[in-house]
Amino acid sequence: MDTPSEKNDVLAQFQDVQNDIRAACKSSARLKEAVKLLAVSKFHEADRIRPVLKAGHRVFGENRVQEAQGKWPALRTDYPDVELHLIGPLQSNKVKQAVQIFDVIESVDREKLARALAREFQAADKYIPIYIQINTGEEPQKAGVLPKDAADFIDLCQNELGLQVKGLMCIPPVDEESALHFALLSKIAKQNGLEGLSMGMSGDWQTAIALGATVVRLGTAIFGQR
Ligand SMILES: *Cc1c(COP(=O)(O)O)cnc(C)c1O
Repeated sequence: MDTPSEKNDVLAQFQDVQNDIRAACKSSARLKEAVKLLAVSKFHEADRIRPVLKAGHRVFGENRVQEAQGKWPALRTDYPDVELHLIGPLQSNKVKQAVQIFDVIESVDREKLARALAREFQAADKYIPIYIQINTGEEPQKAGVLPKDAADFIDLCQNELGLQVKGLMCIPPVDEESALHFALLSKIAKQNGLEGLSMGMSGDWQTAIALGATVVRLGTAIFGQR
C-alpha cells in the first residue's frame, strides 16, 4: 500500500506534467487538444493509479495483457469511461484477451498479428483502433515494421484486413537523437495519409510534441521510477 504522501506525489507529478504539456504545445504552436497524454501505469499498483483517475484523467497505457487484466477490471468498475492502450508486444495467443481489455492496440508490428486481430475483431464484434509500430532505428532486437516495409504493411492493414489504422508508433533507440526518429515516423505517416503519431516518452516528449506527436506516452514522469 502507498502512503498518502506517495499518492500526493503522483497527483502533483501528474499536474506538473499537464502544465508542462500545455506549455510545450504553446511554444510549438500546437493545440493542446491535439496531443493526447497516455499515462503509462505499467508496474504500478492500482492505488497509485487512482489519484490520476480521481483527477479526471482517463487515458492509460499498459504494456502487458496479463498485468492489465489484473488491475483494470476493478478500476473500470469505478471509472467505466477509461481508455486503455496496449503499448507492449502482443503475442498471437493473447489476442483474444487483449481485445477484451484494451480500447486501442498501439503495437501492431507484424502480419501474423494484424491477421489475428482482424479475425478476433470479427469474432468478438469489437473493432478497436490500432497503431502500427515502426522500428525506425532498424534495431534487430526491437519490434516493429521496418521503414521500407511500412507502406505495404499499412496497405495490408487498411485495405485487405479493414483495420482502423489511427497512426504510427515508435520507440527510438536509446543511444540516438530521438528527433531523427520522430521526424522519420512523421514522414512515413504523411506519405501514407495517416494522422496519428504516438511518440515521445518521459525523456523526450517535448521534442516529440514539437515534431507533431498526437499521443505522448509518459510513465516515469507521472508515476515515478518503476
Ligand atoms: C514504458 C513505456 C513508456 C513510458 O516510458 P517512460 O520513460 O517511463 O515515460 C512509453 N512507451 C512504451 C512503449 C513503454 O513500454
